[in-house]
Amino acid sequence: MFKKILVANRGEIALRIQRACSELGIRAVMVYSEADREAKYVKLAEEAVCIGPASSALSYLNMPAIISAAEVTDSEAIHPGYGFLSENANFAERVEQSGFQFIGPTPESIRIMGDKVSAKQTMIKAGVPCVPGSEGELSDDAAVNKRIARAIGYPVIIKASGGGGGRGMRVVHTEAALVNAIQMTKAEASAAFNNASVYMEKFLQNPRHIEIQILADKHKNAVYLGERDCSMQRRHQKVIEESPAPGIPRKLIEKIGERCAAACKKIGYRGAGTFEFLYENGEFYFIEMNTRVQVEHPVTEFTTGIDIVKTQIMVAAGEKLPFVQRQIEMRGHAIECRINAEDAYKFTPSPGRITMWHPPGGPGVRVDSHVYTNYFVPPNYDSMIGKIIVHGDTREQALARMRTALNETVVEGIQTNIPLHRELMVDAKFMSGGTNIHYLEEWLVAHKR
Ligand code: ADP
Repeated sequence: MFKKILVANRGEIALRIQRACSELGIRAVMVYSEADREAKYVKLAEEAVCIGPASSALSYLNMPAIISAAEVTDSEAIHPGYGFLSENANFAERVEQSGFQFIGPTPESIRIMGDKVSAKQTMIKAGVPCVPGSEGELSDDAAVNKRIARAIGYPVIIKASGGGGGRGMRVVHTEAALVNAIQMTKAEASAAFNNASVYMEKFLQNPRHIEIQILADKHKNAVYLGERDCSMQRRHQKVIEESPAPGIPRKLIEKIGERCAAACKKIGYRGAGTFEFLYENGEFYFIEMNTRVQVEHPVTEFTTGIDIVKTQIMVAAGEKLPFVQRQIEMRGHAIECRINAEDAYKFTPSPGRITMWHPPGGPGVRVDSHVYTNYFVPPNYDSMIGKIIVHGDTREQALARMRTALNETVVEGIQTNIPLHRELMVDAKFMSGGTNIHYLEEWLVAHKR
């Protein structure tokens, strides 16, 4: 096992990884930007290294600064967390070339999954169901593209191979709009991702977002840890996640989970990963794979009792997965609310000093957050300041626990989205379960303030 790991991230996930290291008896070296000096995990750290100014480009995205921090502290491995450099194949490569273990999959796996066309082709070969679409990248041949779209059936969606974060997509409803839409998406993709490659898919009208968590080791073992329903989204950003997904038969989940685990073995995947699917009319359609730990991983930790972050570290050190598929049982129901420093209904960011922080507690309640009373939320980063996760025997109990937890929470000095979560937890449609990916946006329009 490693003796020392460098944590190349910030915020709640930095603290989460620090906690996992502490339990494993590993010394965690924390890095921080000048804006993050006051973070809880920096104060708790046995060792911490300032890697640059507030701007992410000069600190958390600064590869040489992070690698030299690992060198000067004699770290053996680097945990990239999520966001920032976590899905950057070049970073993973440089980490390994510098003699450190990258806590994640191989640079090759990251590269394949980072390009949506190659990810999709890999999944089709591995037997994972995908959204019907073009066989690969679209050419400039208008007649051919029209034929592809007719075969798929309108509406279709044009997506950038190099896209991410919900950008680089365009829905097309009629043949008349097709050629122009392809050209526009290509131009945008070229400007935004430095990659003009685009492909075409059937546009699913009312899907749910269902994802499968997997864990794999370096010895060709892979398991799935059930699913998460992340359909409650605003602008393609997840707001609430839960597991299990209400109303989806276990048999279907097991079937798709087994396919995902088999695909991991086939491609030699290692570490934690998530297969994201759109789910409509009883069918799963793969859209992309995230090659890192996700924000919503605690939901699965609650239902399976497996520590995903600790397992990531153990398999990176070369250990075998300590369980096989039939030992993994899902128990009860878990829900996560992401807590953001923002106006609850206008969504304008609300950084600043937190004058009072009272997190909730009690049975089945988990709070992952790096903030505290008198902490200053810097304006330079993502607005998420933490997560409240609850677990209950049933979905009803989990919902009741979340309501209690949200009512107990006091945050003063900045605005948060807690009022929005409180309303959603008593919304009849959300309470009945199984809302699709448009529901939250529609709710926000209907409840405009
Ligand atoms: P990104 O990497 O930018 O997140 P994804 O491929 O994961 O891109 O897609 C993001 C979101 O876009 C999905 O969650 C879904 O809301 C929408 N989307 C993508 N592809 C389709 C599709 N074929 N049909 C309907 N919606 C889609």
